[in-house]
Amino acid sequence: MRAAVFEAPGQPLVIAQVEAPRPTPTDLLVKVKSCGICGTDLHLSAVTDRSGGMAPLSGGTVMGHEFCGEVVEVGSQAPGGWHEGDRICALPYIACGHCLDCLAGRGHRCARAQFNGMGELGGGYADYVRVGGAEALALPDGVDYRRGALVEPLPVALWCRFFGARHAVVSDLLAGRLDKAAAMGATDGIDASTENVVGRYKQIAGNRPEVVFDCVGVPGSQQLAMDYAPMNGRLVVAGVCMRPDNIMPVKAITKELSVRYVYMYERRDFELALEMLDTGRVDGSAMITDVVGFDAFSTAFEDLKTPSDQCKILLDPDQL
Ligand SMILES: [Zn+2]
Ligand SMILES: [Zn+2]
Repeated sequence: MRAAVFEAPGQPLVIAQVEAPRPTPTDLLVKVKSCGICGTDLHLSAVTDRSGGMAPLSGGTVMGHEFCGEVVEVGSQAPGGWHEGDRICALPYIACGHCLDCLAGRGHRCARAQFNGMGELGGGYADYVRVGGAEALALPDGVDYRRGALVEPLPVALWCRFFGARHAVVSDLLAGRLDKAAAMGATDGIDASTENVVGRYKQIAGNRPEVVFDCVGVPGSQQLAMDYAPMNGRLVVAGVCMRPDNIMPVKAITKELSVRYVYMYERRDFELALEMLDTGRVDGSAMITDVVGFDAFSTAFEDLKTPSDQCKILLDPDQL
């Protein structure tokens, strides 16, 4: 099968013929219909040592964890009652299913979990991907193969507005991204390159933001989020910073901030994302700025390393 293969940090991905994955009896083999390029993959492909808290990828890794596709083979003991031809997406790991973490719905904490696109278990930058029968989720009729690739990135943000936030305000240094945020449901945007973020937020909402999400993950961004937060505010750190950072703890202490670090989602988050997409309560298509085949994929991946108006680029292996 074809795959976009990681060879070494900083090197472009190489489109090559590799052996297709072989499902174990509890797995499904899935023909990839689309797979999104994730910022995490851009980060991971540059990691050279463990100093940033993440292990470097091995040469030969096939990344991609935002995939959906069609089941082409069902393992003889695969749970879930799947059939060939079923349209699915999947949690991007295969866990043991028996340990305390698995039973509690936190398969990503399973000591025996393998993650798609991070190690030996290949990801969706390929014609085929191996998926656990227990980790697969059916795509409802209202979720096509384009939106199906958005199910993984959507729970990462999990739509503040649907949980009752009146103001969901995005600040960004790139105006083009503010337009996309607005198309995705943000109530206001702040251009942090020209506007005073707190001042503008107060104009919009009348006070400081009760919950501040750091979705940037570069040195300094957590401190900014602390500075923006009000007394007794909440701070959620979702951006994955892989370099040492300096913060001034007294600012968080005197404000008595609650800080929550977050990393992954659970199955119920995927279920909610699928329902939101299926019922049209979220139209994720505004996130998709390009769809490419294998021929253009490596270049598209490289180009995303430079900030631009691109948001989510999908690989469609069937696209020429
Ligand atoms: Zn991702
Ligand atoms: Zn387990």
